[in-house]
Amino acid sequence: MRFKDIIGQEDIKNNLIKSYYSNRISHAYLFYGIPGVGKKALAWAFAQFLSCQNKQENDSCGVCPSCHKYEKLIHPDFHFVFPVVTITGKKSISDSFINEWRQIMLNDPYFSYNDWTNLLVSDKNKSKQANIFVDESTEIINKLNFKSFESDYKIMMIWLPEKMNQQCANKILKTLEEPPHNTVFLMVSDSREDILPTIYSRTQPVKVLGIDDESLKKHLIEKYNISLLEAADIVKISNGSLIEAKEQIQTSEDNKFNLQQFIALMRLAYKKNISEGFSWVDTMTKINKEKQKNFLYYCTVLLRESFVYNFRNFDIVYLTSEEKEFVEKFSAFIKPENIESLVKIINDSSYHIERNGNEKIIYTDMFFLIMKVLK
Ligand SMILES: [Zn+2]
Repeated sequence: MRFKDIIGQEDIKNNLIKSYYSNRISHAYLFYGIPGVGKKALAWAFAQFLSCQNKQENDSCGVCPSCHKYEKLIHPDFHFVFPVVTITGKKSISDSFINEWRQIMLNDPYFSYNDWTNLLVSDKNKSKQANIFVDESTEIINKLNFKSFESDYKIMMIWLPEKMNQQCANKILKTLEEPPHNTVFLMVSDSREDILPTIYSRTQPVKVLGIDDESLKKHLIEKYNISLLEAADIVKISNGSLIEAKEQIQTSEDNKFNLQQFIALMRLAYKKNISEGFSWVDTMTKINKEKQKNFLYYCTVLLRESFVYNFRNFDIVYLTSEEKEFVEKFSAFIKPENIESLVKIINDSSYHIERNGNEKIIYTDMFFLIMKVLK
């Protein structure tokens, strides 16, 4: 990770680089701010910069042997601590989960605590909390007591120190206060106020604000292939967080899919186009169950909105412009005689999907029932 790969945050990048060139590297930094603003990425880029063998004026070189290892997160002097879950047969330390950590970080370091725990635990263990347990303290102390292998610096990145339990914190206090020569702690916190004061007081805090609008917008357009207008809308409600922006994009994609499928269903059922009706059924059975349930719920909302549209003349503010356009025309087909039957057909399907009924049969039935009601 190079500084240039980080979205926005120019001031922080410049300050970190300046602190190196003026010999003012602190032995423990705390990057804090809301999730999704690039704190992990900053810590990673800073670590890579410190160890780079061919530093540029404003960044690491990206090509020296050290940078190569940093890019893959396999540099022997770059250590990680992060919350883990307790799993039988595995020691509750970060090293037990280092493969999962590399996988998620290399894919995209802008991820949340939830993204991380979802990766670690299977469905049946969903309630498990990830924490930094006492065993981790021994690991931290041992790793830092070794001489550095290849770099001038030994770097210990601690993601979410607020998840560290008291026992673990107590054991590392001394090391944190007087770390071995050329050791740098890079802590990354989503919630500074939850960090134990004994830890917090031994760090130099660096507040990481939201990503600036322009940089975030540019990134969304380039990476997610969305229009300038859409990007601007998303940025407005994302608080400078790429994680929130990604969720918004996902929601709007799901929404588009739902509207498309709802229009297809109603059109095909109305025209009694049975052969295309069957391909519609196929489309539905190919998406996962959660999305199917969302779609069916979405159908009931649009049906009711279309019905109500006939009786009021004010704008339906929370529909997108595409939905509004559809509802305006479609409302003519939704009447007091058919609204309840249509909603019931959809709700019945949802009930059977929930209980793992045969999806193909459920959607085929649903299609024919709607056809009958719309005739
Ligand atoms: Zn380099």
